[in-house]
Amino acid sequence: MTQLDQLYREVIMEHYRNPRRKGLADDAAFVTKHIKNPSCGDDITVQTKVADGIVEACHHDGHGCSICCASASVLCEAMEGKTLAEATLFANTYLAMVGNQPYDDTVDLEEAAAFYGVRQFPARVKCASIAWKAFLDTLPESR
Ligand code: ZN
Repeated sequence: MTQLDQLYREVIMEHYRNPRRKGLADDAAFVTKHIKNPSCGDDITVQTKVADGIVEACHHDGHGCSICCASASVLCEAMEGKTLAEATLFANTYLAMVGNQPYDDTVDLEEAAAFYGVRQFPARVKCASIAWKAFLDTLPESR
């Protein structure tokens, strides 16, 4: 394992153990999307509150494997404060990266870059993707 792999692994395990923004808000201003990955048992809900074109808050809840739960935690922390355009680009770039598709590597994926290695494991791509797909579904453009 390289030093970078080790660092990435630590980021993922840290978010799995100490998830950020976990727990749903009881607030009608949030758009909620529930998504499941039956092949692994991942079951995640993502909530997003957008105001003035900015992702003001992003929460998640549910259960699943370490990749799924950690990616939801990284997602929610990364998205807060981003404009809708930034958030959409960020999520689509991440999804292409983990899905082993061509993507723009000049986009700074922050801690989400830790999921780069998932592309080598096709069975885990869905685990790393579902929270991010749910997030895109909560944004106004895709409704
Ligand atoms: Zn999973």
